Amino acid sequence: SKAKLFDEKINTRVTFKDVAGLEGAKEEVQEIVEFLKSPEKYTSLGGKIPKGALLVGPPGTGKTLLAKAVAGEAKVPFFSLSGSDFVEMFVGVGASRVRDLFKQAKDKSPAIIFIDEIDAIGRARGKNNFTGSNDERENTLNQLLTEMDGFGTNTNVIVLAATNRADILDKALMRAGRFDRQIYVDLPDLRERKEIFEVHLRPIKTSETLDLDFLAKQTPGFSGADIANVCNEAALIAARNGKKAVDRQDFLDAVDRIVGGLEKKNKIIT
Ligand code: ATP
Repeated sequence: SKAKLFDEKINTRVTFKDVAGLEGAKEEVQEIVEFLKSPEKYTSLGGKIPKGALLVGPPGTGKTLLAKAVAGEAKVPFFSLSGSDFVEMFVGVGASRVRDLFKQAKDKSPAIIFIDEIDAIGRARGKNNFTGSNDERENTLNQLLTEMDGFGTNTNVIVLAATNRADILDKALMRAGRFDRQIYVDLPDLRERKEIFEVHLRPIKTSETLDLDFLAKQTPGFSGADIANVCNEAALIAARNGKKAVDRQDFLDAVDRIVGGLEKKNKIIT
């Protein structure tokens, strides 16, 4: 799917009920949903609808999911692009890709543009880690800033961007009229992990004695993505063993396996 420039889904079916926990973040993006649903109501007294918000938090905590849910709740098209695409695929054409993306979104407005891993294009000048030339990354970043500044007050396109490194972003991105709101999307606490289990156990046939509090307690430090993985892995383990329902032991085995994976990942980094 990385090969696709835009992942546009009109009326994407993800809604807030697919996003477990994150009550504060959901409350904040609810406002964006309202803006997208009835822009006239908000601009009638001369106010300007925000153009962008930054979703900040660790990997796998539901930033992409939340952005899709905003589009789903407002019933507007969702256009997305990942910062790493610019490093891996759009070498030499970054600025024109940004221009195309905004043009498509404006044509279909109201709409959401989602930029995942914005740090890949938006890191502060001079702190370059980009495999292409730094000039090129800056051209891409400048095009993004130009597009956001160029929105009229009635464009009705809102840009959501995700990062786990807000600290390294170019401050120009955070100026008024750009990504001037930051929304924190944190790792889930015990209660939130339980809610995430509830969401991801919906399609899974579990044994009747399965205790979600127990599962939540077994998974400190897990992200929503890790929990989604555990649920899927447990279902596969149970099926492999010919069981009719997924039980506690399958979940414990799945947790072990995911913890093993997490440890390996950390080893590679350090
Ligand atoms: P990254 O920074 O790695 O891109 P992200 O924060 O964008 O991660 P998502 O891609 O939204 O994370 O999450 C990956 C998957 O994990 C989701 O598709 C969903 O299945 C699950 N997930 C993560 N957070 C939640 C949550 N709060 N509620 C339900 N599912 C979640």
